Amino acid sequence: MQNEPIKDIVIVGGGTAGWMTAAALSTVLNGRYNIRLVESDEIGIVGVGEATIPMIQRFNQVVGINEQEFMRETQGTFKLGVEFVNWGKQGDRYMHGFGRLGQDLATVAFDQYWQKMRRLGKAAPLEQYSITRMAAKANKFMPPRRDVANSPLNDIAYAYHFDASLYARYLRKLSEGRGVQRIEGKITRATQREPDGFVDAIELESGVRVEGDLFIDCSGFRGLLIEQTLTTGFEDWSHWLPADRALAVPCESVPSLTPYTRATAHKAGWQWRIPLQHRIGNGHVFCSRFISEDEAASTLLSNLDGKALAEPRLIKFTTGMRKQAWNKNVVAVGLAGGFLEPIESTSIHLIQTAIARLIEFFPDRSFNPVDVTEYNRQSRFEYERVRDFIILHYHLNQRTDSEYWTACANMAIPETLRQKMAMYRARGRVVRVDNELFSEVGWIQVLEGQNMPVDAFSPLVDVQSEADIHEYLESVRSVIAQCVDVMPDHAEYVKKFCAAA
Ligand code: FAD
Repeated sequence: MQNEPIKDIVIVGGGTAGWMTAAALSTVLNGRYNIRLVESDEIGIVGVGEATIPMIQRFNQVVGINEQEFMRETQGTFKLGVEFVNWGKQGDRYMHGFGRLGQDLATVAFDQYWQKMRRLGKAAPLEQYSITRMAAKANKFMPPRRDVANSPLNDIAYAYHFDASLYARYLRKLSEGRGVQRIEGKITRATQREPDGFVDAIELESGVRVEGDLFIDCSGFRGLLIEQTLTTGFEDWSHWLPADRALAVPCESVPSLTPYTRATAHKAGWQWRIPLQHRIGNGHVFCSRFISEDEAASTLLSNLDGKALAEPRLIKFTTGMRKQAWNKNVVAVGLAGGFLEPIESTSIHLIQTAIARLIEFFPDRSFNPVDVTEYNRQSRFEYERVRDFIILHYHLNQRTDSEYWTACANMAIPETLRQKMAMYRARGRVVRVDNELFSEVGWIQVLEGQNMPVDAFSPLVDVQSEADIHEYLESVRSVIAQCVDVMPDHAEYVKKFCAAA
């Protein structure tokens, strides 16, 4: 028998998580539910999540976002990957580019042939077999040409950089246009009903009481409902991901508009560089046990491309996840649900998948525990797999110049990551489990980029002759180089794209 539907949805918080949730639900629920969003201008948003991964295009499609309007309104740029500087060793530089590596030849994956030819000294660096990596290096960009079959141009995976405040504003306009009601004000407390402890209302400083059936906690690190009200508990992962602070500062733009995020490792952390149309976003993520805030600020400011446009802003955090993302009638989305630190720009993606999962397991008044348990199982799986990928960046280093990096190299790692690294070492193979976020190609680029030794490759590589493999690799490499030659400059492309009606 179908249970009674819920009616009132209350979204607590209007950062990226709150407004993405509002935009998605107001689109998908077709005006059948009453959606209200409460936020406080005085408290504001964390305002630093400005780099994304390609899956965000799916969110934009579902919500019906026009890409040109979106790029214009958020001062957006295109992103083809992340460049890592000084991660494996000081002086190392590699890119994790989106999309595929090479083209499939026959029996085994492209990278297996590359492993063999590399040993023979007959392969080019891995990046030369990736169109996104080569285009990024040349500051070129264009979206995939779906009309050109069997060409790397058909296969350009990309994401965006955007101004987080403008993004929240853009999604707000869209959501309000679809019936979401915004309520301004500071929430002082939540009340719970008897006997099950479900949240039944939130109260604002102004005395206004907002009642609801389903509460989506998008209140950021505070976790107003999921933690402060329901004391759900937080699983602390700082023994694996020890960074606990970030200093963020925007600076003036410089002429080359790079179509990638840069992550430069420093003494006790790393610095991001996110190019937007109107400014560059920068931030130093660091571990306060190894460096003072003053030194971290001075490192950040001495590594900017242009003049700083503000004083550095300090953000404190603990890496980890909420023990349950969904507890009673509260679902935590965004930073209220957990934070893994921003090295691979996964946080906005985790907002997107949390919303997709909420839609899949959308409750009625019974809040069926079976659905809630499955929702939480899937959230945990996703978080843990992303966590492993991020730990890899820290753990797989050969730096000897700082206590921090040595500690990361020597730390105990989760068993799931240990197995993945062992598998790669044995045969250069990555096994993607279920629908974990990062693909084999993502893992391979980081493992290779940070100098993971590989003992052997698949014996099936030898089914092809060495001459055939060489010719195959060469043809992939040269076709990619030719394709990159014809691609437009990123800055020019963005300008034309945003100017078009
Ligand atoms: P917030 O932006 O903090 O929003 C919280 C909302 O709750 C605000 O509207 C606030 O006003 C409201 N609120 C809180 N308390 C109250 C109250 N009492 N009453 C009323 N309203 C209240 N993600 C990426 O994908 N890519 C990145 O490159 C990236 N970089 C990051 C860098 C750093 C240093 C950090 C810390 C995070 C980064 N993230 C990144 C994560 C990203 O910033 C967040 O996932 C995203 O901004 C979502 O935040 P949020 O909406 O959950 O929280």
